Amino acid sequence: MFKSTQLIGLVLMGLCLVSKKSHAQQTATNAWVIQHVNIITMNEANSIIPNATVYIADHQIVSINGAYPKNATVIDGKGKWLMPGLIDMHVHTPTDVGPFGLKYPTQGATIFFDLQDQMLLYIANGVSTIFELSARAEHFGQRNEIAKGTVIGPRMALAAMIDGGTGQGRSVNTPEEGRQAVKSAKAEGYEFIKVYAYLNPATYFAIIDESNKQGLKVIGHIPTSFKDKLKEAFVPGFGMVAHAEELTNYAKDYSDQEAQEMAALLKTNGTWLSPTLITMEAIASQVRSLEPLKALPSLAYVHPLLQSKWLTANKYNKMSSPENIAHFEQYTRFNLQLVKACAAVGVPIVAGTDAGTSGVIAGFSLPDEMALLVKAGLSPQAAIASATKLPAQWLGIDKVLGSIEAGKLADLILLEENPLNDIQNIRKIAAVIINGQWLDQASIQKKLQHLAQKNTNMKDQFDWKTITSPKK
Ligand SMILES: [Zn+2]
Repeated sequence: MFKSTQLIGLVLMGLCLVSKKSHAQQTATNAWVIQHVNIITMNEANSIIPNATVYIADHQIVSINGAYPKNATVIDGKGKWLMPGLIDMHVHTPTDVGPFGLKYPTQGATIFFDLQDQMLLYIANGVSTIFELSARAEHFGQRNEIAKGTVIGPRMALAAMIDGGTGQGRSVNTPEEGRQAVKSAKAEGYEFIKVYAYLNPATYFAIIDESNKQGLKVIGHIPTSFKDKLKEAFVPGFGMVAHAEELTNYAKDYSDQEAQEMAALLKTNGTWLSPTLITMEAIASQVRSLEPLKALPSLAYVHPLLQSKWLTANKYNKMSSPENIAHFEQYTRFNLQLVKACAAVGVPIVAGTDAGTSGVIAGFSLPDEMALLVKAGLSPQAAIASATKLPAQWLGIDKVLGSIEAGKLADLILLEENPLNDIQNIRKIAAVIINGQWLDQASIQKKLQHLAQKNTNMKDQFDWKTITSPKK
């Protein structure tokens, strides 16, 4: 009998022997060459390489316009555009839930969200990395399923959320508790900290200071406890504001001058902005009416329990009144002014969607966000940077992702048309390459249709009201 360490040794030796075979032989099944393709590199110089040959093997971009093995799969990229996979900097992926009312210890969840179904929505839109902004233990499990290859899905960055008050999760109300929460989150494996709305100022400052000490970057809301002292929230190490409305909340006359003053706070402090324009657009839309959401083709891909919640227990639509409609429209307008003001002074802007919020559909909402960034005044090039190299840089993964360069991971989107001419072309996907998997548009459509059918078939079992308030 071998001890397990000996066995591991043998396996490793085996791998060494395999790697001595010719490179071509080893990678042939997992090697592609895209020929005659135009590359939007998103490298430092933002170079475009026309009519290029890209060799991909073992999840990696091996070379651009270099040699490649004869037996690699060749794809004709003539007239097409290759760009880095997209990064969504603000998502909430549902995890299994229930039971509603614990009946006995050891009882598990009662409602299960198929991870592949959820992740398909990202892949279908070329989203190859997501930033989970209220990560829990289950998200580590989800990430491992994807890393293992059991599920095709995006790479996941995980932020632990810390709030004040007495709510669920990490609630801290003193600087000591705040520091301890950061240390615990780090020990549990979280890579980032998200600060939330109900922290008191002293605790908020302690969390940011401790995160800096522990080497964790901080993103988040601006706690309501700052009231009319917005400036004070901008301390060194407050890395990113998670929504434009965190600033809009402080607007008095919604003027461009006010937007510029806020932009100056971010610029001076080195704080980035993830405006999540689509979130406020979706909320404003649902305050007006649920009809646009009902008509959204991608709603069919959302789990029927969430469809039921969004359409029958919609908290935004319940607020519908002429005053609220005007209020949210004001917010959407000022958010655009803010983005414009931030871009003008060079505050880095990254694309995030808050996917999982009512009416914000995973994956499909990121091209919407990028289009809104262009509406706010960003060039298509800057909007693409906001969902590729800039977030890669903030997350600290820019050595491996965010641009197309030899040696980087091959998370790529092949587009039918040039997104630099029109950002809407970001939706014209010919194929997505992610984590060593090649998915063309036909296979993506087939999977989406299958999912829509599955959701329709399950609809009757997932009525929101029946499930969340079962009969006694
Ligand atoms: Zn969020």
